[in-house]
Amino acid sequence: MNDRAPLPATLVERLRAIVGDRGLLTEAPDLEPYAVDWRGQIRGRPALLVRPASTQETADVVALLAGAGVGIVPQAGNTSLCGASVPDASGTQVILNVSRMNRVRAVDLQNNTVTVEAGCVLAELQRVAADNDRFFPLSLGAEGSCEVGGNISTNAGGTQVLRYGNMREQVLGLEVVLPDGRVWDGLRGLRKDNTGYDLKHLFIGAEGTLGIVTAAVLKLYPRPRAIATALVAVPDPAAAVDLLGRLRAACGERVTGFELIARVCLDLVFRHIADRRDPFATPYPWYALVELFDSSAESSLAQLLEDALGEAAEAGVVTDAVIASNESQRLALWELRENASDAQKAEGVSVKHDVSVPVSRIVEFIGEADRALGAAFPGIRTVAFGHVGDGNLHYNAFPPPGEAPDFGQWTPQVNRVVYGIVQRLGGSISAEHGIGTLKRDELPHYKAALELDLMRAIKGVLDPRGIMNPGKVLRP
Ligand code: FAD
Ligand code: ZN
Repeated sequence: MNDRAPLPATLVERLRAIVGDRGLLTEAPDLEPYAVDWRGQIRGRPALLVRPASTQETADVVALLAGAGVGIVPQAGNTSLCGASVPDASGTQVILNVSRMNRVRAVDLQNNTVTVEAGCVLAELQRVAADNDRFFPLSLGAEGSCEVGGNISTNAGGTQVLRYGNMREQVLGLEVVLPDGRVWDGLRGLRKDNTGYDLKHLFIGAEGTLGIVTAAVLKLYPRPRAIATALVAVPDPAAAVDLLGRLRAACGERVTGFELIARVCLDLVFRHIADRRDPFATPYPWYALVELFDSSAESSLAQLLEDALGEAAEAGVVTDAVIASNESQRLALWELRENASDAQKAEGVSVKHDVSVPVSRIVEFIGEADRALGAAFPGIRTVAFGHVGDGNLHYNAFPPPGEAPDFGQWTPQVNRVVYGIVQRLGGSISAEHGIGTLKRDELPHYKAALELDLMRAIKGVLDPRGIMNPGKVLRP
């Protein structure tokens, strides 16, 4: 297709015939919220947006667009933090938004599974699980707007991975519209199935580059009946990692969440988010937000946590702690953590990282990255927070106050420093948010050529015409 040409009118009308007027957005003002990423930094120019209401409509749309060689950008809640869910600036790509496919198709309580469509909002899925006296464990700051299709395609993590694993662990089966319009019905609710290659794993975390997930069979868990939550002040990240080990020794698999929060991160929350206040009388340099779950209501979980924290305090690992004594206090503690991204967005542009290293090397990572960035960019402000229990840290770099560097240049320079340390410590440059366009050109520096070759080969088999989310993850 000619690079700047709009879609032919006949093609648009054939799309309309498949999805109806409600399923098509063609005017720029209507397209705007879908064309720009969550941080407001990456703006694409879609040819149009199509939102099918069923798997069949999705398959028909994909077949039509594939036949015309039109690039398709799968989109769910559009909360991607790596530019994966918005089109490029060519004006030729079509956004295929799955939000209208949001039904819960089935709940199987004996099998402990739910079959849900890709457009179901994560918070709604959590609610459906609770209504059935079950629990769905994926939990993240964007849960009010991100959707299952996006969660699967990014292999989302969040704050309960420590106990339940990330999205990949929750998926038993998938239904996928392939880049040629064929539908793969892999909606099996099996925990054991050794009949060859486990194809669903290809699509999980593929960032929409291999096909469109339309539905999934997901695991459900016993509902937690006892929860204990504490915000714990610790002297430094080493003490936080020490505390994690102590809690796991004392409380076992009940340790569900363990989030590290730097003071500077909390300060930004207090500055930018209304009605948030410090639960402590004095500031501390570092905190761990700790949560235990137990599926037995009989459990004296709060006592267990208090005892473990008491022992850690005697060992000098814990400086102070606030234990939530009711649900609203618990939510208030979590809101401090969950507002971290919004607060930093309000503070201004930063270079964001969602790296992982082995838990045993987290302390080294923070120390080395702070030192190296401070030396290379005097006055730089770094904000470390996140899922230390999984070795996954959000590590964001803000320019010195009052300075607005050229981010086009600054970002790769900051990345080089941070990713170099990550690589040396055996880590990953993206533990959660994915590659998208933001980290695409970084990937070849940190992933083995053989791995990239295999990824390209898989892409070539499933999407030989390169129409599915072109330019994301891999260079076209
Ligand atoms: P989108 O942003 O719409 O899409 C994400 C990717 O999936 C894109 O590549 C898109 O093309 C593809 N895609 C979407 N739907 C489909 C589909 N049906 N089939 C195939 N491909 C599809 N992420 C974490 O992992 N952990 C966190 O703790 C976390 N916290 C966040 C907090 C905030 C405030 C925000 C804004 C984001 C956070 N994220 C986090 C990132 C983001 O929310 C997740 O990546 C989420 O899973 C994306 O879901 P979405 O529905 O918004 O997908
Ligand atoms: Zn995260």
